[in-house]
Amino acid sequence: MAVPKRKTSKASKRKRRTHFKLEVPGMNNCPECGELKLSHRVCSSCGYYDGKQVVEVK
Ligand SMILES: [Zn+2]
Repeated sequence: MAVPKRKTSKASKRKRRTHFKLEVPGMNNCPECGELKLSHRVCSSCGYYDGKQVVEVK
């Protein structure tokens, strides 16, 4: 198995990790209710998608 020739320096490791985010990628705020939702998915709190209510939420 291939193995890294050099130890990854603290700087290189930290530079790579700048792309790591705390939030799950593909999350954004719903334009209808402002709740955090998954993009390209119907909002789970108001049932809106693309400006229209597509599912009934109680
Ligand atoms: Zn919503």
